Amino acid sequence: MVSIATQRAEILDGRPIAEQIKREVAGEIASVFQENAKRPCLAAVRVGDDPASEVYVRNKVRACAEVGLASELHALSDSTTTHQLVDLIGDLNGREEIDGILVQLPLPQQIDEGTIIEAIDPAKDVDGFHPMNVGFLAMGQPRFVPCTPAGIIELLERNNIEIEGAAACVVGRSQIVGRPVASLLSQRHATVTICHSRTRDLAAVTRQADILVAAIGRPALIHGEHIKPGATVIDVGINRVTNAEIARDLFGSEANERIEAINQRGYTLVGDVHPAEADLIAGRRTPVPGGIGLLTVAMLMRNTLQAAKRRRSL
Ligand code: NAP
Repeated sequence: MVSIATQRAEILDGRPIAEQIKREVAGEIASVFQENAKRPCLAAVRVGDDPASEVYVRNKVRACAEVGLASELHALSDSTTTHQLVDLIGDLNGREEIDGILVQLPLPQQIDEGTIIEAIDPAKDVDGFHPMNVGFLAMGQPRFVPCTPAGIIELLERNNIEIEGAAACVVGRSQIVGRPVASLLSQRHATVTICHSRTRDLAAVTRQADILVAAIGRPALIHGEHIKPGATVIDVGINRVTNAEIARDLFGSEANERIEAINQRGYTLVGDVHPAEADLIAGRRTPVPGGIGLLTVAMLMRNTLQAAKRRRSL
């Protein structure tokens, strides 16, 4: 029998590292905040009933309980105005017992996102989106680092993937992921290229990268031809696939269980990287789900602990 080449990228599982970070946070909370009443508290705000946002916020609130943080959830109606949300944030800013404020994005269209982000007290800005925290990060003196970029760096470092000197390429330049992760990689001495929707011959650029970060929001846009053989591929995207034929093309040996998921709940998740093609070329890749998303939640827990320690001078 002729054997077919079956090289497979190593899967960089986010779960054990996210669990490790949460254990570290839980340990510190238990030792620093001994009395229950003084436990740090995260206020999570969700506006509207976007199903994905509901899942994300639920996971964040659940993680708080796991690590010993207090939390409160503010679920507001779809028709909330900018003014009403600013009022709520003002209230949360003023409450001494609230250490971190998280406003789940995206917000409904009628709300001005910039106004909301600027309304959050920078000392409670555990998502790290306030211009003051963005500025500190850009200066290389980060206070709150946005959770997804921080999680990407943790995943690389805890897997001993060398950043210093590496050619890194970040596809996507959003304020939430692309720009901050490019800044963090550069501060760790990678040579960083940022790509976006106007990049000419994307594959020619991404194929140079030892570390390729895809934060695009386009299902499986990154194919085998975009990946340097042996590269580390970090897939940030979270996209829904509802078509069984597309799932069969994307998921290789996992296709049957993904199609089963589509049949049962109507969709399965894919990132911005074509997983079956990446498996044949990359040295390592993060899975979706089970990769960066888990790290994002763990880093939010760490940022909230950090906020509480700073605010209380501990
Ligand atoms: P975003 O704000 O929509 O930014 C997307 C970026 O991709 C933009 O910079 C855009 O370029 C670029 N882009 C779009 N089409 C492209 C193309 N054909 N070629 C090259 N670049 C292209 O998205 P985001 O908020 O960064 O999120 C990206 C993805 O990550 C989404 O799937 C989101 O759900 C996911 N996400 C996951 C987590 C997590 O915890 N795992 C956290 C946050 C986001 P331009 O700037 O030129 O428009």
